[in-house]
Amino acid sequence: MSDSIDKNEKKDNEYEEYCYMCRRPESVAGKLINMPGDIHICADCMQKTFDSFNNNGMGGMQFLDLSNLSNIGNIDMSRFMSQNDIPQSQKVKKKAAKPKKEEAELTLETIPAPHVIKGMLDEYVIGQEYAKKVMSVAVYNHYKRVLTDTMDDIEIEKSNMLMVGPTGCGKTYIVKTIARLLNVPLAITDATTLTEAGYIGDDVESVLSKLLAVADNDVEKAERGIVFIDEIDKIAKKHNSNSRDVSGESVQQGLLKLLEGADVEVPVGSGSKNAMVPLTTINTRNILFICGGAFPDIEEIIKSRINKQASIGFRADLKDKYDNDPNLLRQVTNDDLREFGMIPEFLGRLPVLFTLDALDKDMYIKILKEPKNAILKQYKKLLALDEVDLRFDESAYEAIAEEAVSRKTGARALRAIIEKFMLDIMYQIPRDDSIGRVTITGDYIRGTGSPIIELRGVAAIEACATQA
Ligand code: ADP
Repeated sequence: MSDSIDKNEKKDNEYEEYCYMCRRPESVAGKLINMPGDIHICADCMQKTFDSFNNNGMGGMQFLDLSNLSNIGNIDMSRFMSQNDIPQSQKVKKKAAKPKKEEAELTLETIPAPHVIKGMLDEYVIGQEYAKKVMSVAVYNHYKRVLTDTMDDIEIEKSNMLMVGPTGCGKTYIVKTIARLLNVPLAITDATTLTEAGYIGDDVESVLSKLLAVADNDVEKAERGIVFIDEIDKIAKKHNSNSRDVSGESVQQGLLKLLEGADVEVPVGSGSKNAMVPLTTINTRNILFICGGAFPDIEEIIKSRINKQASIGFRADLKDKYDNDPNLLRQVTNDDLREFGMIPEFLGRLPVLFTLDALDKDMYIKILKEPKNAILKQYKKLLALDEVDLRFDESAYEAIAEEAVSRKTGARALRAIIEKFMLDIMYQIPRDDSIGRVTITGDYIRGTGSPIIELRGVAAIEACATQA
């Protein structure tokens, strides 16, 4: 007998109580007040009820001290409502608590050496050798400095970084991969949303709010995180502007104190400070800031600088020597960025400057085939679940890469192209059980042919033959 009561109680504990009035579960509404008749009311609704009693001339009703809920456990609510109003059950099953992943914190012993970081990056990021090397060293130094905390007297300068590279070449991707490998919180923000405090848009402190949110509102964890500010070229100083530059130079000025390391008051869970938002203080001394931007047309600035330097004397070059140089961007200097509109104080706080190369056809083909989580591998796996062997012949890789080059949006184009031609395949294949293998060809990608479909028996016999 007692056994069955125990069981019932156990079962009951698995269910959440609901507020009878506002229908919110206890996990949302807070501790519920239990009434006889299996009725539960949340503190908010209880307060509202008493407020309305008072306002409707039913004064004299004492406010309850809702902080002491046990006081009111014995009000007989069934006097106010008929038995039919009382619902049979107001319980929903509690959500199962997600098992927390055991995450190893970064320590001085576990911090990987630069060549190991680069090796890990190589598994995911194709090309960009120089950028990967620079970042591995800079990140290693940064975390060594943070984790030892003994360098204060020497005061190694923070290795904030500025990455310059065309859109879709892997800037965000490298940063994301590093943060994941090192298991540190990463906030990715967009400089275009930032404005000077008091104007419509997010204050510069919002970048830290995001980091705090990613770190589960754990200030200590956030203070060791990485902030990636994308589209940094969009906050360049506006040339020839008479109005106040609230989203350009002022934002650069605002970011200075964050980049350098300061105690900053940060709104928790909001983009801007106001009376309703709680604030907390974050010290940015150990936060690694990485800025990235495409800096469109900066090649022109680089070209004219180089031409100016080399236009006299024996070193004089032909004027159009650099016109078609694909690697011109690699020669970018702080002077060029200043000319572009970045203020010197800002650039001074991003001592590690490096460039990423535009992707070419060969790199696109490698991106399709090689990374650990390459998109085509994902599709292969997806179709393997339906026991279909998805293959791509060489001409298909070429066709996808050619199309991506022509779109000029970087590696993002690959996904768009693949999604488009895979749609039909993903739609048709589950319809037909007899399909065993699909081979995508270049003609299919270009829209001049169709994929090669093989039936299950044939594909299986061939697979056996190749195994043998
Ligand atoms: P951006 O340089 O504009 O920040 P992203 O880093 O966001 O571009 O790249 C977009 C996507 O393209 C990434 O999510 C990634 O899948 C892919 N990608 C870009 N560059 C590379 C690369 N070098 N190697 C592998 N994948 C890449």
